[in-house]
Amino acid sequence: MIKENNKTCAVIGAGVAGLGAAIRMRNKGYKVTVFEANAFPGGKCSSETKDGYRFDMGPSVFTMPQYVDELFKLSGKNPREHFNYIHLDPVYKYFFEDGTELDAYHGKEKFAEQMAAKTKDKKENIIRYLDRTETIYKLTDEVFLKNSLHVAKNFFTKRVLKGFLNFGKIGAFDTMAGANKKSFKDSRLVKIFNRYATYNGSSPYLSPATLNVIAHVEIVKGAYYPTGGMVNITTSLAKLAQDIGVTFHYSTPVREILISNKKVTGIKTDNGPEDFNIVISNMDVYNSYKKLMPHVRRPAKTLDQPKSSSGIIFYWGIKKEFAELGLHNILFSDNYKEEFNTIFAKKSIYHDPTIYVNITSKHTPTDAPPGCENWFAFINVPNNSGQDWDVFINEAREFMIQKVNRILKTDIRPLIETEMVFDPRVIESRTSSAFGAIYGNSSNNKFAAFLRHANFSKDIKNLYFCGGSVHPGPSIPLCLLSAKITTDLIR
Ligand SMILES: Cc1cc2nc3c(=O)[nH]c(=O)nc-3n(C[C@H](O)[C@H](O)[C@H](O)COP(=O)(O)OP(=O)(O)OC[C@H]3O[C@@H](n4cnc5c(N)ncnc54)[C@H](O)[C@@H]3O)c2cc1C
Repeated sequence: MIKENNKTCAVIGAGVAGLGAAIRMRNKGYKVTVFEANAFPGGKCSSETKDGYRFDMGPSVFTMPQYVDELFKLSGKNPREHFNYIHLDPVYKYFFEDGTELDAYHGKEKFAEQMAAKTKDKKENIIRYLDRTETIYKLTDEVFLKNSLHVAKNFFTKRVLKGFLNFGKIGAFDTMAGANKKSFKDSRLVKIFNRYATYNGSSPYLSPATLNVIAHVEIVKGAYYPTGGMVNITTSLAKLAQDIGVTFHYSTPVREILISNKKVTGIKTDNGPEDFNIVISNMDVYNSYKKLMPHVRRPAKTLDQPKSSSGIIFYWGIKKEFAELGLHNILFSDNYKEEFNTIFAKKSIYHDPTIYVNITSKHTPTDAPPGCENWFAFINVPNNSGQDWDVFINEAREFMIQKVNRILKTDIRPLIETEMVFDPRVIESRTSSAFGAIYGNSSNNKFAAFLRHANFSKDIKNLYFCGGSVHPGPSIPLCLLSAKITTDLIR
């Protein structure tokens, strides 16, 4: 039973973090209104259907489902009656140009055993590496993930101090690629572990080895698939929010955050101004300042950090089933270092890209017509700094088709019976993500975690932020954690 407090809260954006924040604020007794520019909830986590194929348009790898469940429990509901998921094992299928195929299984033992059977590294060595990533997790989750990094008192708890005293052990002084090269003899394993840098749009050759923690989350804590697809995360949370009394205004972009005497007073849409006690912006923080409060002094140091990579995604309806592929598949570039150099230094696309192919029809057969598959084929690309994306899209299509054909020894060109494509411009226009960067600031330096914007404004009272562009970072679970950190700061 919600205890009303007669205060009002506006949430700008119904992305996963905006939904999490709205549910949490409603449970605190606030009268909550969500303003969403699109006609649908979910932001990056949305879905589209074309010619009988359904596609999840953004996120596809689901970890730490407990943060979704937590919102149902907080609202007095049994999550299993509203949102379900299955545990994946194997999680990934990896393909290399030399013909190697490796399956990544769940859990240290099974993962290490399967990898050791097909690579030059011993099982014990792989387990030792995974133990180290677990140590990073234990030392960092309280420090970096579960608390605001911008509230002084949070630094004086025993666990946080322990995290800081063990800075060496969390890999803060080495790069991911450096640490992984030292850990494995087999270059294929190095690539598999380097790939986790892309989960927040960074280069393993630049980002700190602390990010190796992501391997622990996926391989040991596990990966999941929501029944009916990723979009059910956001549709079920939007329904939950509505059921507990949150009001939604879709197709209603917020044009301005109203501020008086350094205190938020409300927001303005095309329907006019509206008063609110609290405003939480789930809009990308860079654009929150630029577009909704251009007259406010912007924290340039955090906002102007280099942004993450983006993606070109082909949503292909493929009129054939490929038994050798699973839900998550990676076709690795032969020259990973040059691929990242091309993305981050040359700001261009690489001729031999690493391709991620996600096929939800493997688990939800109705996502494609019988005998067919819905391919979400993704490559990492630079964010938008004015490149000719139409040229890049045509080149990317060719590079990707050639690579899939080479590795799977097939010809997919005549099998593509429908196509949609996203590029950084589309991602930017659909979700207001600055420069179409998928993950806010990149993590391409060791201080990146400290250079994300706080979950609150230091200058404007009652103004808060949540989502992938602020602390603790991008991905579905981190966005849900950001909603928790943000709302925990509000009385
Ligand atoms: C292609 C792709 C693949 C990804 N893969 C994964 C993955 O496998 N696993 C994973 O965990 N994460 C993945 N991510 C990242 C993940 O999707 C994001 O971190 C997360 O969904 C971001 O949520 P958010 O709440 O920050 O906001 P967003 O999803 O960006 O939503 C912000 C919302 O605010 C709205 N909005 C913006 N401005 C205004 C305004 N002025 N007024 C009203 N509304 C406004 C937008 O319309 C949007 O709905 C991926 C993302 C993409 C794009």
